[in-house]
Amino acid sequence: MSNNTDVKMLRNKLFFNHINIYSIVSDKELKYVESFAEDYKKFLNDAKTEREAISYFLKSANENGFEEFDVDKKYEPGSRVYRINREKSVAFAIIGKEGCKNGFRLVVSHVDSPRLDLKPHPLYEKNELALFKTHYYGGIKKYQWTTLPLALHGKVILKDGTRISVVIGEKEDDPCFCVTDLLPHLAKEQMAKAMTKAIEGEDLNVLVGSLPFKTGGGSELVKLNILNILNEKYGIIESDFSFAEFEMVPAFKARDIGFDKSLIGAYGHDDRCCGYTSFQSLINLKIPEKTCIALFVDKEEIGSDGNTGMKSSFAKHFLGDLTLHDGIKNRIVFYKSKAISADVNAAFDPNFAAQYDALNSSYINKGVVITKYTGSGGKAGASDASAEFMGEIREMFERKKIVWQSGQLGKVDAGGGGTVAKYVANLNIDVVDMGIPLLSMHAPFEVISKLDLYEMSRAISAFFE
Ligand code: MN
Ligand code: MN
Repeated sequence: MSNNTDVKMLRNKLFFNHINIYSIVSDKELKYVESFAEDYKKFLNDAKTEREAISYFLKSANENGFEEFDVDKKYEPGSRVYRINREKSVAFAIIGKEGCKNGFRLVVSHVDSPRLDLKPHPLYEKNELALFKTHYYGGIKKYQWTTLPLALHGKVILKDGTRISVVIGEKEDDPCFCVTDLLPHLAKEQMAKAMTKAIEGEDLNVLVGSLPFKTGGGSELVKLNILNILNEKYGIIESDFSFAEFEMVPAFKARDIGFDKSLIGAYGHDDRCCGYTSFQSLINLKIPEKTCIALFVDKEEIGSDGNTGMKSSFAKHFLGDLTLHDGIKNRIVFYKSKAISADVNAAFDPNFAAQYDALNSSYINKGVVITKYTGSGGKAGASDASAEFMGEIREMFERKKIVWQSGQLGKVDAGGGGTVAKYVANLNIDVVDMGIPLLSMHAPFEVISKLDLYEMSRAISAFFE
């Protein structure tokens, strides 16, 4: 009969065990992990809005041999093309040796993150302080957005048609902004409220100034002074706000976390960590077998609606034009195509263990998270990947020795959430969610691990190859 050694062997053979990537990487790889993370932090600091992420990718793509896709042009395998959608969404493709004939490989990630958008009439003065009214974007815990340094990023088209990009609060000597909160001494009533009521949407007003315009009398002199500063610098008048896009985002930079510097804390990991790894993996490809596409979409955090979101026909049309280029109907190609919806998942947080199913959660440093289905209670709104497609993903993980883990968002009835996977699935493409485990999702300062970031780039490269 079996002795202890046999039992141990049988366990090793049959049980699933999480692997901590750190236990298997070489020193050489660790050096690479570190430099990859440094470049990623620079990207995060440069790309805090969807527009800035897209423009970062475009600049890098131009330096890496990509050109704007022309439907009428004949492209050879290895050709690098892109199509941009309104400065907020873009698709990059590398034509494969067999083109789209047997389906393409698509990776989709979103470049928008939760934030505070300015209302159409944001500026007002109260008790000689100037403030901006905001409407939050995406699912946030409102109290987290008070007493933080905020930066203003925006795009304005002036009356005369002049296009202006505004970024205030990112440079060391720039001013920044903030939402104030009530002192604890007077917060007895506030502290007794439910967290959803302690700070409400209409309380997220951003402090933007306090000095009155110097000469002349009248009311609203602080507001006048702010408008005068904006007018002198950018030519902006009050009505311009009604036609502009202004976003308030955390003003701090990405930082290493921990004595061992193993983690990165930053604004906007969701979903720029997947966006960055997808982009880098694509541009590092030589000539793939199948045409490979990295698609970046906007509006995921508010439901993927709008012409720059995943529900827009942009992706369908671009993918259709790529297949047309190979002389094949897209309905045949889409059916044979494979996609990754690259998005973050909730890493198990020991501080809030009760909200997670420990057996079905993802963990920091334990590799890419594969999520067969998302949705909430009863799998509502989920795109559930088939066993066949999951089998192909597994074969790829085995072949390329990718450290993977399976991850669900939390307990079945604790809440839930979705990704763009279902909209990709609606195109009749095989798709599954894969991403990086993340702590403090949607907080102004989110945390991921450098090893998981690196593993994600390896997994995406494996998928493209
Ligand atoms: Mn996301
Ligand atoms: Mn999100």
